[in-house]
Amino acid sequence: MEDCIFCKIIEGKLDSEKIIETANSFAFKDIHPKAPVHILIAPKRHVERPELLNAHELEDMFNTSEEIAQILGVKDDGYRLVFNVGKHAGQEVEHVHLHLLGGRVAKSMF
Ligand code: AMP
Ligand code: ZN
Repeated sequence: MEDCIFCKIIEGKLDSEKIIETANSFAFKDIHPKAPVHILIAPKRHVERPELLNAHELEDMFNTSEEIAQILGVKDDGYRLVFNVGKHAGQEVEHVHLHLLGGRVAKSMF
């Protein structure tokens, strides 16, 4: 979609630090990391909310997350997977993305 920064990253029109690309997903480093490891996993298709992802995209995003955790060495110690949905969650980019955060003990969210 035009004017979507993540579509531009996925299409290679905007630079990013890519980690992995699969049939349905594109994963890259968050430009303002909130943890030592902070990766965004986005579907290649422009989808605005998680409930609009299809089964292939969901499966691919979660498999890709697990693969990234393995590659970046955070799988054994654990990591957080987060979807921000809508304004109360602080969603800034309206192209669905899963945040993978790891590399240190996370504060409890509750
Ligand atoms: P959210 O609040 O869930 O919409 O998260 C958007 C995330 O995208 C934030 O953590 C930003 O730091 C990140 N971000 C914004 N622009 C870029 C970019 N060009 N490359 C990588 N990450 C980005
Ligand atoms: Zn998009």
